[in-house]
Amino acid sequence: MEPIIEAINVEKFFQQPEGNRIQVIAPTSLSIYPGAIVALLGPSGSGKSTMLRMLTGLATPSAGEVLWHGKQLDGEIPHVAIVFQSFALFPWLTVLDNVEAPLVARGMGAVERHKRALRMLDTVGLDGFETAYPKELSGGMKQRVGFARAMVVEPEVLFMDEPFSALDVLTAETLRGELLELWLNRKMPISTIFIVTHNIEEAVLLADRVVVLGRNPGRIRADFQIPLAHPRERKAPEFVEFVDYIYTVMTQLDAEVAPPPQPLEQATVAAAPRPERKYTMLPHARPGGIAGLLELLADRGGRDDLYHLAEQLRLEVDDLLPITEAAVLLGFATLDKGDAHITADGMKYAEAGILQRKELFRDAALAHIALFQQVDQTLRAKTNHTIPLEFFRDVLDEYFSEEELERQLETVLDWGRYAEIFDYDSHTGRMVLSEPGTDHAEVAAQ
Ligand code: ADP
Ligand code: MG
Repeated sequence: MEPIIEAINVEKFFQQPEGNRIQVIAPTSLSIYPGAIVALLGPSGSGKSTMLRMLTGLATPSAGEVLWHGKQLDGEIPHVAIVFQSFALFPWLTVLDNVEAPLVARGMGAVERHKRALRMLDTVGLDGFETAYPKELSGGMKQRVGFARAMVVEPEVLFMDEPFSALDVLTAETLRGELLELWLNRKMPISTIFIVTHNIEEAVLLADRVVVLGRNPGRIRADFQIPLAHPRERKAPEFVEFVDYIYTVMTQLDAEVAPPPQPLEQATVAAAPRPERKYTMLPHARPGGIAGLLELLADRGGRDDLYHLAEQLRLEVDDLLPITEAAVLLGFATLDKGDAHITADGMKYAEAGILQRKELFRDAALAHIALFQQVDQTLRAKTNHTIPLEFFRDVLDEYFSEEELERQLETVLDWGRYAEIFDYDSHTGRMVLSEPGTDHAEVAAQ
């Protein structure tokens, strides 16, 4: 089968104001074939939207090329439509005019575009709402307009960037069902759906093929088929097996990725090597969240399935993964095939009181995380035991985008202050060596 789109060794760099280039997508190759729903799954910040923009021609790769039907794009935007999380409707246009807008842009005559738009509104269940304005509609209705507006141009590939993320749980589930029904009944004049999501279950529910992106820089960690019949049952063992497998892929940071749960035709499991990095990126988790996870694990006899934990804690993967990554980084937990296991140190932490927890966290951070070792050594080496936070900004800005840098510094401060590795004076912007148990006022007075 000929691919519709071929991305060949595409890379993306963003230029930072300080002049550094941050790599957001590592060299990546990806082909999209007709007749399938493809999900691009990854944590936030892994480069999913950036990949989508390069595939659609909305963004140019910094290196490599994107071919549509074997031809280079050359600045021309191919025949695509995109459904966005934010709906992106024109508030001053009626529902009907919103759906007709892309046809107007393509120069289609009034009669034909009117007919097409009405038919599409009917298909997505919006007949009767033609003259309404977006502000009169619920989120679910707005996204139905988003679908209609995308499908009315009869794109070869329908792109969706987290189309259900802004909706409440029930509305999202309804719309997923409707989308699938339209697709399976061939009500859509579309060859392929490419959906970006950070929701594992959504990917397993909808997709024929799942491409898992890892972050920093974005790269493909796994690419496999899901040969389960529709409608899929979330509680079915095969379903859970795929969800577990994806958790395993997403949490195995550097290890080799195991093959998917079933022998699959056409399955390619490719994991690009992770580029060398001097600094481990700190997961954005709060000490309180890490404590909560460890308590729950201790309560469960020391281990639990991540899928189950996410459900129990009512956390999305975007929130659960940083917490588990942090617990692993600190040596409080290990991950194995989608299960989290508490370690002896983690158990001690879970059972300790507030003050002892701070000590255990401090010991763990200094034992396992190079950045905290460096902060601690620098503070101890200086006679005044203080350094500006800016010092670390300068060290880290080679490695992270501006946005990520801010989050890294926030996490460093959060962990370091909690563990009493240092205090931070927000007036002077300086970190100050903290002796455990010392009172903050005392340090400030020195
Ligand atoms: P996702 O969609 O998976 O959440 P994105 O593709 O939006 O991820 O972003 C990936 C990374 O690229 C993030 O770290 C983000 O901060 C960075 N990034 C995205 N767009 C830009 C830009 N225009 N300039 C600088 N950095 C950017
Ligand atoms: Mg995005």
